[in-house]
Amino acid sequence: MKLILLGPPGAGKGTQAEALAKRRGLIQLSTGDMLRAAVKAGTEIGRKAESIMKSGGLVPDEVVIGIIAERIGQPDCANGFILDGFPRTLKQAAALDELLDSKGTILDLVIELKVDDNALLSRIEKRASDTIAAGGTPRADDNAEALKTRLLAYYRETSPLIGYYFAQGKLRTIDGMVPVEEVAREIDALLDA
Ligand code: ADP
Repeated sequence: MKLILLGPPGAGKGTQAEALAKRRGLIQLSTGDMLRAAVKAGTEIGRKAESIMKSGGLVPDEVVIGIIAERIGQPDCANGFILDGFPRTLKQAAALDELLDSKGTILDLVIELKVDDNALLSRIEKRASDTIAAGGTPRADDNAEALKTRLLAYYRETSPLIGYYFAQGKLRTIDGMVPVEEVAREIDALLDA
């Protein structure tokens, strides 16, 4: 099964992708996590991405397409994966289609998590304060300023993917405002349908 979770920052893509990967034995592919790991490790990609990510902007398409192409080619992805945070632009979506096509496979479903914009800032602020309370360091982009840029990038660059996948007949939309477990049940219901 090859899936995409789509939605604005704070929609719960990462939470749902991680839990779903465990439930179904799929691989979670989060470009955000991969980029944060690259920043932490101080690789060349990480050095290039760090300031862009901190401000809430999008890392160049070539960079993330390269990361995903490399990762999807690995044997553990053969059984299926959940993309979370990729694709984020029409160019990335087209590159993914080409990549899967070249492997003789296709995307099964794109699940859009729909949430109220007004809820996003409080979710992001809560994630930051929970992390601090647990003794950790919050993400550099989990603040009101960067969130504005992330939301703008979402509406400008990523939201057209909703139409792109609708036209392919792959889009399913679920309510991301209900409790985490309920969202998970909705996702399972879609996958089992
Ligand atoms: P969120 O969806 O909550 O904003 P992510 O962890 O998915 O968080 O992404 C964090 C940041 O990583 C993004 O704001 C962007 O700078 C970068 N990033 C992640 N995935 C991509 C992508 N596919 N294309 C461009 N930039 C990306």
